[in-house]
Amino acid sequence: MKKFGIAVSALLVLTLFFGMWLKDARRLKEYSKTEFLFDTECRVKAYGKNAEVAVDAVFDELAQIHKTTDVYSDDSQISKINSASAGERVKVEPFVAEIIAVAYDVYLESDGAFDITLAPVTALWNFGTENPEPPEGAAIEKALCETGFDNIVLDRENFTVTKKRASAKIDLGGAVKGYAANRAAEILRTFDTDGAVVDLGGNIICVGKNPNTSDGLWRIGIQKPFSPTGEYGSVEVLSEEAAVTSGTYQRCFEYGGKLYHHILDPKCGYPAQREYASVTIVSDDALLADCLATACFVLGEEEGTRLAEKYGARIIYTAK
Ligand code: AMP
Ligand code: MG
Repeated sequence: MKKFGIAVSALLVLTLFFGMWLKDARRLKEYSKTEFLFDTECRVKAYGKNAEVAVDAVFDELAQIHKTTDVYSDDSQISKINSASAGERVKVEPFVAEIIAVAYDVYLESDGAFDITLAPVTALWNFGTENPEPPEGAAIEKALCETGFDNIVLDRENFTVTKKRASAKIDLGGAVKGYAANRAAEILRTFDTDGAVVDLGGNIICVGKNPNTSDGLWRIGIQKPFSPTGEYGSVEVLSEEAAVTSGTYQRCFEYGGKLYHHILDPKCGYPAQREYASVTIVSDDALLADCLATACFVLGEEEGTRLAEKYGARIIYTAK
């Protein structure tokens, strides 16, 4: 009987050790990778035995999406649309048509605050170059005449884009990172990871349960970029959701003592002058959240909140 007791105790101790070892082994399986795509830093982190292969598969897809949509590359489908003549039907990937369709919906609902056809104006603002200067007012006025979604015809069945005037151009910079985050999440799910988180320049999407928290939820700190102490504006608790932030501090320059940032008000062609530093949208759909974050930044708190609610999304304005 005594021997039996010792055997049971030994088994219990062994089970305990095995359990702890298993837990540690699981905790150790973490893989993270960062690359510069979409003109920003893109980071993907996954947990579990398939983490590495899953993250690598995600980056293959991100590179493909970037190549297809990069407005600065002559080979991209966006450049093909932008250089096409009036009436020319340009064939695009179904996903490009999907992004344009969602962008059009948010364009209509935001009364034009989100406008991918603003490209002739965004092209004048040389954010990211060495010594940027604000463009001439007359050049902005002229470029504004080339904008407006009525110049673009999207055929969603045949996946073609046709322009009504040759000078019309599009720029998916305000939407494509959200689409890419959605795709990253889809791929991570197929690899059956033990949780993963994707951050494409502030377009965050969480997949599965967070293995590092007891409730399995993800906690995302929203930066307060101009705070001297580097504190967070808020910490958002997310399940399998996306949190997309559009802020003045992501791409900007100072000129003549004034800060010029990359979120433009389509009504005037200048950076939207707002009292907050950023807008965060929390939604299941990162593509929609990306379009909304940019739109709601332009619209201001009252109208922006109304728009986010219309789409069933949560909205957070963060002070400077
Ligand atoms: P995001 O980082 O998603 O806020 O998008 C900002 C990017 O979208 C800019 O760098 C521009 O390429 C483009 N953009 C700027 N203003 C707008 C706007 N009002 N509507 C749509 N795209 C915009
Ligand atoms: Mg956006």
